[in-house]
Amino acid sequence: MKYVSTRDNSKEYNFEQVFIKGLADDGGLYVPISLKKYSTDELHKLKNLNYNELSTEIINLFSSDFISKEELSSLINKSYSTFREKDVVKLSNVGEIKLLELFHGPTLAFKDIAMQFIGNLYEYYLNNNNKKINIVVATSGDTGAAAIDAIKGKSNLNIFVLHPNNKISSVQRKIMTTVEEKNVFNIAIDGNFDDCQNIVKQMFSDLEFSKSINMSGVNSINWARIIAQSVYYFYSYFKLNTDKSVSFSVPTGNFGDVFAGYLSKKMGLPIDKLIVATNENDILHRAISKGDYISREVKETLSPSMDIQLASNFERLIYYINNSDCEITADIMKKIKQNTYQIDKQSLETIQKDFLSESCNEEETLSIIKNVYEENNMILDPHTAVGVGAIKKLSLDDCVVLSTAHPCKFPEATNNAINKHEKLPEELQYVLDKNENFQVLKNNLEEVKNFIKSKA
Ligand SMILES: *Cc1c(COP(=O)(O)O)cnc(C)c1O
Repeated sequence: MKYVSTRDNSKEYNFEQVFIKGLADDGGLYVPISLKKYSTDELHKLKNLNYNELSTEIINLFSSDFISKEELSSLINKSYSTFREKDVVKLSNVGEIKLLELFHGPTLAFKDIAMQFIGNLYEYYLNNNNKKINIVVATSGDTGAAAIDAIKGKSNLNIFVLHPNNKISSVQRKIMTTVEEKNVFNIAIDGNFDDCQNIVKQMFSDLEFSKSINMSGVNSINWARIIAQSVYYFYSYFKLNTDKSVSFSVPTGNFGDVFAGYLSKKMGLPIDKLIVATNENDILHRAISKGDYISREVKETLSPSMDIQLASNFERLIYYINNSDCEITADIMKKIKQNTYQIDKQSLETIQKDFLSESCNEEETLSIIKNVYEENNMILDPHTAVGVGAIKKLSLDDCVVLSTAHPCKFPEATNNAINKHEKLPEELQYVLDKNENFQVLKNNLEEVKNFIKSKA
């Protein structure tokens, strides 16, 4: 498969470039030049595959110029062997709600599903190349933990994770900062997630710096992550064993997870609506419901992994709704940078064919956690609660809600709602008392660069 940048289609890239670089030099995101569209018959053949087999089939469509199907298959088996759930993900019923539990990986959030896979993909790449790579990533809590678990102890790889100081949950932080491996570096930035993400973006666009340390990114714009996430849309659709199209409610921050759903729909999976569920950082809800894409200050909420204003992956949607026109996309991205973008009426209608949106404030999130607990004796994490809240507000019952994190990761939020918290699984209990190791740095590009240079 060949790829182009959303902002310039004059150059083509292969999977290796797309995976290792993450972001194109022109600042755009990589997209494939074409997409396979499965017919009903072909979908029928995929239906009886287990999760790993299905992953292999779907990912291989995009990566066959980089890794053979046989090697991909064994890499996927290895990636998911650490999951607590044999089928990797699990569909469960909570009263009338269907939950797709995606949090059975080593760090208890859906991000493990893509990250365990790309950790092994790096290893595969480095076994065939004599190189040393430094991964730098910004996190609002869960990406960092998942990335560290996937990369720790691997040779010829370092990982630097920037998180906003004091703005993630204590358990999220401890899962990252109690890892002792020498190739793991945690940096707490005095700022919010968008500040962390900005620093990383600026380091990437400083080509002299990024080349000097062989910098690579694993954030949610990485195409390899997106395709690994589209697998569970297919898998859960098949498990539902239905002829009808299915809607999914997706707790959303950077628009990566829900974009994987959009990709699945473009590939022929019968998806009706994708519901973009946001917390009080509701730019995507304002955008999708009325075209308003003006960003505001980031607010701290109970669901920190969605405390994001500028959703990087939205650029891919802009590209697709403008019929893959790079010039229009590049123009719109300029407007977004100046914070002056309003979605025109026709584009909005196009978006609304596939997407609905809702936002839940803090009070609503707490009351969803409380109601679900009282009615079903089940504790939801605050991100999943936003996904459930969105379908209640839209009065959509027949819908799968992506459950993106294990509730034990957010004890502060669940204590607040019901005075109860879920215990960490036995094998993660140790993080609660172990010494933490992280460097606090100012929200300052040069300071962060110097720190990374000194360790890389
Ligand atoms: C990252 C994250 C999200 C948001 O996913 P995006 O792909 O950034 O939209 C939602 N819930 C949890 C628990 C997360 O960690």
